[in-house]
Amino acid sequence: MTKSGQHPSPFPTAEQLLRSHHMRVTPQRRLVLSWFLAHPGEHWTAEQVRERLLTQLPELARGTTYKVLNEFVRLGMLEEIPSRDDSLRYGLRLDPHHHFFCETCQRWYDIKPQGLAQLQLNGDDRDRFCVTDVLVTFRGVCQHCQDPSIRL
Ligand SMILES: [Zn+2]
Ligand SMILES: [Zn+2]
Repeated sequence: MTKSGQHPSPFPTAEQLLRSHHMRVTPQRRLVLSWFLAHPGEHWTAEQVRERLLTQLPELARGTTYKVLNEFVRLGMLEEIPSRDDSLRYGLRLDPHHHFFCETCQRWYDIKPQGLAQLQLNGDDRDRFCVTDVLVTFRGVCQHCQDPSIRL
């Protein structure tokens, strides 16, 4: 327990992460990254992130938000998942995971499915493609949408 009575976060702070990636600590980078560190397992559009941070940094421009998000995606700290409505959603990716997409509430859940280590390309495809990452999405209906009395 820390002095404030909160459990310590399992993740490094935004500043530590920026420094370990040799990135200059700017207010925009620190704020955006802190937002994701405070909400692991949740996925947001760039506009949702910006709207929520405007109270702390009113001059946070749309273009800057996208630029910062893309930097973090490139460095592997954030993931970028396509949404049905064409907008990308961003989530923390310090801990590798896959997704379950609920077709009813349109929410993305982080999951860690079994057996993926055995997943491989077929012979022909192995020659055609060089794999850098594997992202698996399961789709269906989440427990909460099956029974609203269950909270996730
Ligand atoms: Zn749902
Ligand atoms: Zn995720």
